[in-house]
Amino acid sequence: MERLYSVETPCYVVDEKRLIENLEILREIAERAGCKILLAQKAFSMFAVYPLIGRYLDGTTASGLFEARLGFEEMGKETHVFSAAYNEREFHEIVKICDHISFNSFAQWQKYKEKALAAGKSCGIRINPQHSTQEHGIYDPCAEGSRLGVTRANFKEELLEGMEGLHFHTLCEQNSDALIETLVAVEERFGDFLPQMKWVNFGGGHHITREDYDREALIDCIQQFKEKYDVQVYLEPGEAVALNAGYLVASVLDIVHNGIDIALLDASAACHMPDVIEMPYRPPLYQGGEPKEKPYTYRLAGATCLAGDVIGDYSFEQPLSIGDKLIFEDMAIYSMVKNNTFNGMCLPSIALLQENGEMKTIRQFGYGDFKERLS
Ligand SMILES: *Cc1c(COP(=O)(O)O)cnc(C)c1O
Repeated sequence: MERLYSVETPCYVVDEKRLIENLEILREIAERAGCKILLAQKAFSMFAVYPLIGRYLDGTTASGLFEARLGFEEMGKETHVFSAAYNEREFHEIVKICDHISFNSFAQWQKYKEKALAAGKSCGIRINPQHSTQEHGIYDPCAEGSRLGVTRANFKEELLEGMEGLHFHTLCEQNSDALIETLVAVEERFGDFLPQMKWVNFGGGHHITREDYDREALIDCIQQFKEKYDVQVYLEPGEAVALNAGYLVASVLDIVHNGIDIALLDASAACHMPDVIEMPYRPPLYQGGEPKEKPYTYRLAGATCLAGDVIGDYSFEQPLSIGDKLIFEDMAIYSMVKNNTFNGMCLPSIALLQENGEMKTIRQFGYGDFKERLS
């Protein structure tokens, strides 16, 4: 951890050693279960490490054209895409880049089928197994009224000709028990169509690299599914690839007092860790305790004008001073890919703590990155 204090802040630091540990777990799963594993780029798109990731995983998946292109150019291997709706301009490019294309409706499939099949692409349709396994409404594609995936009632068997895959994605940060339940729902509702498929994509949300994840149960259920239906199984985790493999290092800019001591940082929840507000959650902080657990409690906040730009309340052994550096943990995922320059805040630099212990700055940002997106 000491190496992290050497960076100029704010800075995301990805820990190569930890990333490799995750990748080794994922590769072992793929080998033992006989499935393929893709990086879901929407969680983590640090393409500087795509060559490394490509040594362990089978390729990338994308939520649309730009992610697909990034995966194709920077990793190669298999390039999958699922978008809730493609526009024609986008699809024209996607067909050149992607080998696997999943559709969200039979209307989209009918619209693009000819183009995709003429280009030799393997196509799939996303299904909605209508089995919720979690409470987080905004992360539940099985919630009532969901637009994601075709329900059994809307499934058009007569339009399946040429379709090679089924895709479902219903989990979020979950263990293998949630997948096992979901597979029961998939078989119940869509079991008739499984034998005619070449592949089934189990989506993301599998927290495979988390300490308490039951990997043996995952391997078992994939093996059984493959045996029963003779299909290629894909997993496309995002979080699990870079879980606990990155940090956001920030500095204290000022300390103010209003009923509580408040430290203003050069990192912002609103700009640099938007999931803290959106999800919401309190990110782990290296050597930071729960409020009042240690002698000195502070509210950590961004320096933007948004009153709610608060990261959380933490306690410390020593009082904080201006210039102190703080290390937020588990900041590789859903951070860089979601950050923004609200208030004209500068984007954090991106660095790699290499396996050999050396810190390598990959990218620094400036005024140009703010101005280029405006006109
Ligand atoms: C979000 C998403 C993923 C990745 O999910 P994680 O929770 O990051 O593992 C994979 N596939 C699809 C279709 C997604 O929408």
